[in-house]
Amino acid sequence: MSFSNSSRHLREGLEIMAEKMAVSNRSGPTILVIDDEEHVREGCRKVLTREGYEVSLAAGGDIGLKMIERQHYDIILLDLMMPSLSGFDVLAHVKALHPDSVIIVISGYATLENSIEAMKKGAFDFIPKPFSPEQLRLLIKKAIEYNRAMQDIADEKSRIRVLINRLTDGVMATDSSKQVVLANPAFLAMAGYRDAAAVGRPASEVMHQEQVMSMIDRALAMPGDQFQELTEELDCGSEKDQAGPVLNARCIPFRDRAGRNIGTITVLHDITALKQMDRIKSDFVSMVSHEIRSPLNSILAQIKVVLDGLVGEVTPQQHEILGRAAEKIKSLVCLSSELLDLARIESGLISQERETLNLAELLDSQVAFYDAAAQAKKIRLELAGPVTVPPVFVNRRNLEEVLANLIGNAISYTPQGGTVTVTAAMEEGYLRINVQDNGMGIAAEDQERIFTPFFRVKNDQTRFIIGTGLGLAIVKRIVEAHHGFVRVLSKPGAGSTFQVYLPAADQGGHNSATQDPLFLYDNCPTS
Ligand code: ADP
Repeated sequence: MSFSNSSRHLREGLEIMAEKMAVSNRSGPTILVIDDEEHVREGCRKVLTREGYEVSLAAGGDIGLKMIERQHYDIILLDLMMPSLSGFDVLAHVKALHPDSVIIVISGYATLENSIEAMKKGAFDFIPKPFSPEQLRLLIKKAIEYNRAMQDIADEKSRIRVLINRLTDGVMATDSSKQVVLANPAFLAMAGYRDAAAVGRPASEVMHQEQVMSMIDRALAMPGDQFQELTEELDCGSEKDQAGPVLNARCIPFRDRAGRNIGTITVLHDITALKQMDRIKSDFVSMVSHEIRSPLNSILAQIKVVLDGLVGEVTPQQHEILGRAAEKIKSLVCLSSELLDLARIESGLISQERETLNLAELLDSQVAFYDAAAQAKKIRLELAGPVTVPPVFVNRRNLEEVLANLIGNAISYTPQGGTVTVTAAMEEGYLRINVQDNGMGIAAEDQERIFTPFFRVKNDQTRFIIGTGLGLAIVKRIVEAHHGFVRVLSKPGAGSTFQVYLPAADQGGHNSATQDPLFLYDNCPTS
């Protein structure tokens, strides 16, 4: 354990011990009576000791002050008018030394103004002389309750402080002017802040990531009737050191009773290890899929040689067996291709090479391509036109893959004699492509899950349809990488409509970055 680590643990241990001691040390309240009149002092002592309180007496302000300097009292009964040192002076000293002591003013001259003045300076209440034992008892009881409530709040605060300080997640709270009001050691470490006190400083001086500052701005600007947790991923790698930490940042506004935003809370969670694991997993899947594809393709080619009778006559039975083997191998090729696509999308290799495309032309060619598969199943596949939408700024291969999956599925999951219709239109600034079928439909509880990798609806109707459960996951990720979204409207027995929304070319942003385009294999059978 390093020195800084051990000293941190020691400090945390001490904090917890101090807190526990504070709670266990709570015995009866200690009371100090400061009054120059002996009969008042003694009267108070008699009444209060009978109640079981621990009472100390001081015959003047100066003596009282010395006692207060030596010891903490929970409640102080304080005469305002004393010859040696005025009660007001004592009050000021007590507030500076022990702000949590509860002060009750007693004075023969207690005019209302004097008492109000004393309460303005921090006294809890006042009791005018002469007072009855019952009046004193009642007031002391009230003061004790107040003192307990204040102590409970202080304990609670200390518990929360210890808890927040021990969290491994970073926590920072700001007020509405973006000044730091709380930042735990984990947050300061993740932000790389090494100066002394962060509290009171502008958040931008503590956290240099612009993304976090923008989240704080957005949280503070959030309307009172809306509540949303803002989430972003922060890649803290520098230009030199690409493999820097990756943090998940969440930010919410906090509000007063009237619903006004009075500050923000930002939580940072280190997801570097998770990200690394994910990358390793994607790389592994890519590698395995890639390595499996070549031998599978060569097996397929060799089976074809046998099936074509190039190495001798093949009996009908042999032909059937080899044919079925070839079909299985084709499904494996398809699975490995789709796994490879998904792994590439997950590792961020989704194409950035985009172009402005005429959608009508693209839809036309895709519908023409799948016509043979539709006809083989006696399904009517049509492009309902004319398609008069503005151009779209996308990666051609990616959009072709989206359409291939949706049209292919519509054909697969629609029985003979059905219809599949493709349309495109503008809707609220988005370009919307619909692939509609009147096939078997999807149950409401499965509609969200079909976009999850490997999820396939299992029922009597789908049992014999070959698939990997990856197509729609790929569709979703490609569409989202183009700043769009995909959804399904479906009713079992009536059919499904898959809707792809893409920003039109002028809103999509002309991303000039050039990376390798996502390579999509074409050898997936469209079942
Ligand atoms: P796959 O088709 O390879 O199983 P997908 O990810 O493309 O995988 O689809 C996931 C599941 O969603 C399918 O298994 C199927 O149950 C359901 N599904 C997809 N498209 C349709 C559709 N047009 N009609 C009915 N069900 C569909």
